[in-house]
Order: sequence, then C-alpha cells, then structure tokens
Amino acid sequence: MDTKRIFVAGHQGLVGRALVRQLQSGNDELILKERDELDLTDQHAVSDFFASEGIDQVYLAAAKVGGILANSQYPADFIYQNLQIACNVIHASHLAGVPQLLFLGSSCIYPRDATQPITEEALLTGKLESTNAPYAIAKIAGIKLCESYHIQYGRDYRSVMPTNLYGPFDNFHPQHSHVIPGLIQRFEQAKRQRAPQVTIWGSGRPQREFLYVDDMGDACIHLMQLAEADFWASADANISHINIGSGEEISIAALAELLAEVTAYQGEITFDTTKPDGTPRKRLDNSRLFATGWRPETNLKKGLEQTYQWYLAQNDKKD
Ligand code: GDP
Repeated sequence: MDTKRIFVAGHQGLVGRALVRQLQSGNDELILKERDELDLTDQHAVSDFFASEGIDQVYLAAAKVGGILANSQYPADFIYQNLQIACNVIHASHLAGVPQLLFLGSSCIYPRDATQPITEEALLTGKLESTNAPYAIAKIAGIKLCESYHIQYGRDYRSVMPTNLYGPFDNFHPQHSHVIPGLIQRFEQAKRQRAPQVTIWGSGRPQREFLYVDDMGDACIHLMQLAEADFWASADANISHINIGSGEEISIAALAELLAEVTAYQGEITFDTTKPDGTPRKRLDNSRLFATGWRPETNLKKGLEQTYQWYLAQNDKKD
C-alpha cells in the first residue's frame, strides 16, 4: 500500500490530537505544523506550504473554538479566524491538487429550532442560535467551500459535523470551556476546597448529545477512507456533509449529577438561571453515519471517567 502524506491541521486541538493518536499507528506520514511555523489565517503562508509539501490528505481540524460565553464575548474573533482558516486551507489544497480533504464542522451549524434528531438536510432551513451564530456561519462557509470545489472541480473534499465532543486535552478553563471540562474543573475544585455547593449555568434543562473524542477521531478516519462513490452517494446540492454523533443524549442537570458521581463530589448542585441555556436540544440524526457500519465504542460514563483521570494526571504534573 502506498504511504500517504497526511496533514492534520489543528493537531494541538482536542480532535486533532485524537486524530494524530490514531493515525500514528498506521503507515502514513504525518505532516504537523506548530502555530508559529504555519499560521493558517495567513493566506500566503498556507499557499506556500501546500505548494511545496505534496500532501495527499488533509484533516481540517483547526479552528478557534470555545463555549457559550467565549462565543458571546468574542464573536469577531470566532467568525474571522474560522473563515480565514477554511478559505485558506481549502483553496490552497485545491490549487496544490490535494486529492482528499475532510473538513470538521460542528452541530451548531443547524437551525436552533431544527426538528430532532437533526438530519443533514436541516442545514440552512432556519435561524441559528444567536450565542454562536458567527462561529456557525464560518463553519457553514467551510461546508459550502468543500461542496463547491466538489461541484466545480470534482474535488473529493468532504465535511463532517460532530456533536458536542469531550475528552483529554479539552480546554478546562473555568469560564471559556464547554460544559464537561468546565464542570469537571469546578467539581474537582469544590471537592478539594470542601465547598458545600457547585453552581451550574442555566436551568439544567437543555439536552445535549456527547461523543468521546477518540470515537470522533475514529469516525473521521473511517469517513475519509470510505470509497468516494459511497461518501458522495447520498449527496445532492444541499447535503455534502455527514453527522457524527453517539446517539446518547442527556440533560445538563443529569450530566452534572453524573459528573458529581465521577468526581466523587458530595455537595449540592445549584443552577444559575441568569446564565444562558443556549439551544434547548441538539441531537444529531446519525443514520447516514451508522449506515456506513460505524459505531462509537465509549459510552458517556466511561468517557467521563477517562477524561477525569486524564485531568487529574495533568494536575498532578503541575503540582
Ligand atoms: P453549547 O452546546 O454550544 O451550548 O456549549 P456548552 O458546552 O458551552 O454549553 C452546553 C450547556 O451546558 C448550556 O446549556 C450551558 O448553559 C450549560 N452549562 C452549565 N454549566 C456550564 C459550564 O460551567 N460551562 C459551560 N460552557 N456550559 C455550562
């Protein structure tokens, strides 16, 4: 089998690291660039890089990401950086004749009030959730870029839309993280300080579907390797992307209870309803993905335990 030169854009991120962990065990050659070596928002630098590297496959996992608060506070950074990254990498890949690319989007591209579970066809059928619309619009542009280069130039540039992801190397910042790392950090701190209560943002009623990041990496590689005809078989002008989810949905309140159990926090859980809830529900329809034979391996409880163990080990290193 030929050895491929695979570029993982965003290899320091949550998904990028999971992709690298899995791709490293194969025969292919991985091309990884640190941010100070290659700035993906710099069009000339990205063009020069692709023109000289002879890349066969791109996993476009680089993005500026953040939780509900970061998205509300820095909308300009979210839309600008994500648009730049998508435009530069996809166009430069095309100019350099890169045969295959997988663009990673996000489930927040779908309308806030989309019918659940959300099928791929729901894209652009309604209003976005306002707390992350700038980020979502940049991600929708990325899907449309891949789709357009496929239509106009026959490029095999595919897109995938993951549900909410979590796992090792997530961002555990107290305010700017997503819910799982945010709560792991808060429960652990409360346990150490023997705090009588932990406060959760919002009403606890929103429902979310979560996928462990190693399953996400595995699904991406599986979809990249799917025969061209199989990937594009059900595509039409509006569906060139595939959802990646677990099918496992939970309310934020139940998630908080599960995390209290995993972290062995015994205090009370309270809700701060002055903080936003975001989208009430966003469960993906995974029929297209599951029809290709793929299934996740890690259930939520096990994934949370592994993430928590990783977090503790990181903290031990810092101490
Ligand atoms: P979202 O799926 O894009 O809304 O991303 P988040 O992971 O940021 O938020 C998911 C849900 O968890 C929202 O309803 C939040 O209000 C709720 N939530 C509860 N506590 C927290 C927290 O400490 N951090 C974050 N990010 N969300 C929280």
